[in-house]
Amino acid sequence: MSVIVFLDNKDGAFVKSSLEAVNYAANIASVKGVDCIAVSCGKLSNEVLESIGNYGASKVVSNNTENADNSQIASLVSNLVESNSASIVVFSHDFSGKAVAPRVAAKLNAAIVSGVVELPNFDGGFTVKKSVFSGKAFADYKVNSEKAVLSLLPNSLDVITTDNKAEVIADSSDLGTAKMVIKEFKKKGGEGKIDLNEAELVVSAGRGLKGPENWGMVEELASVLGAATACSRPVADIGWRPHHEHVGQTGVAISPNLYIAIGISGAIQHLAGVNRSKVIVVINKDSEAPFFKAADYGIVGDAFEVVPKLVAAAKALN
Ligand SMILES: Cc1cc2nc3c(=O)[nH]c(=O)nc-3n(C[C@H](O)[C@H](O)[C@H](O)COP(=O)(O)OP(=O)(O)OC[C@H]3O[C@@H](n4cnc5c(N)ncnc54)[C@H](O)[C@@H]3O)c2cc1C
Repeated sequence: MSVIVFLDNKDGAFVKSSLEAVNYAANIASVKGVDCIAVSCGKLSNEVLESIGNYGASKVVSNNTENADNSQIASLVSNLVESNSASIVVFSHDFSGKAVAPRVAAKLNAAIVSGVVELPNFDGGFTVKKSVFSGKAFADYKVNSEKAVLSLLPNSLDVITTDNKAEVIADSSDLGTAKMVIKEFKKKGGEGKIDLNEAELVVSAGRGLKGPENWGMVEELASVLGAATACSRPVADIGWRPHHEHVGQTGVAISPNLYIAIGISGAIQHLAGVNRSKVIVVINKDSEAPFFKAADYGIVGDAFEVVPKLVAAAKALN
């Protein structure tokens, strides 16, 4: 018996959302009194693989196949679920988890609950809380099937680490032919830019900035804070900022620890992508702007006066 968790990697390291998923899976395994086994696909150093023990996995099964496609990863994970008689499989509800988790659920004839935000409750059954209606509500889902696939919403739970190392088990099983081959990865942002999906701090701006020439102060604030930059949809639509920075219902949904919104009105479609941020700071010259209702901290003022002062204060703090 065990709980299986899939780990995604980028540039030779595991992505942050996967580490959260391992911690989550390890907590379930501890409640159930079973092992937490992590599954990794791609070439990674032994040191990186072993380090997954810090997050609670006792073993990590590593398959060396490079650039495996979603169906190959689904085969790898579901075969390991069967061979370890696992009943719970965990993914992060991130880019790869969204693609692989449903495939694994279909292969295993398992229930799937995507976007879970809390540990399951096993008192008298198996229920788990998930985020619904673009983060506006939560629902408790009851799992009735023998096997269950859960995907954890990134940044939902605090991660606790130890000095433990995981036992590395090499897997040389043939994953079959890829149905889709990735020929080239092209980075969207500039070199060294913080990935919006992984960012803990995000500085975002909207039409209140008047034009693309005014983004210097937004980028400077982001750089001083070590934050990623984001924007509202109209700003991306008119070409002031690249589309991959657009957050909201039709853009990227994020859940950073801190979201600073500058000159953004707070329309419902924008909030749908950012309302899971832990702390929201709104800077708007209109005290009636709807965003203030969702804000933890609000500054009523002109962005062109407030943001340079914030940059200076953050520099002084650094
Ligand atoms: C189907 C659909 C999907 C959509 N999806 C998305 C989405 O995913 N993401 C998204 O963002 N939008 C989305 N929208 C658009 C959304 O409804 C809003 O129109 C948009 O979010 C508004 O962008 P904004 O706040 O930047 O601009 P505005 O609404 O023009 O607001 C600008 C704000 O800046 C403030 N301001 C002006 N000057 C200053 C200054 N000097 N200092 C400080 N504040 C200032 C103003 O008071 C105002 O509140 C969608 C709309 C539809 C219909």
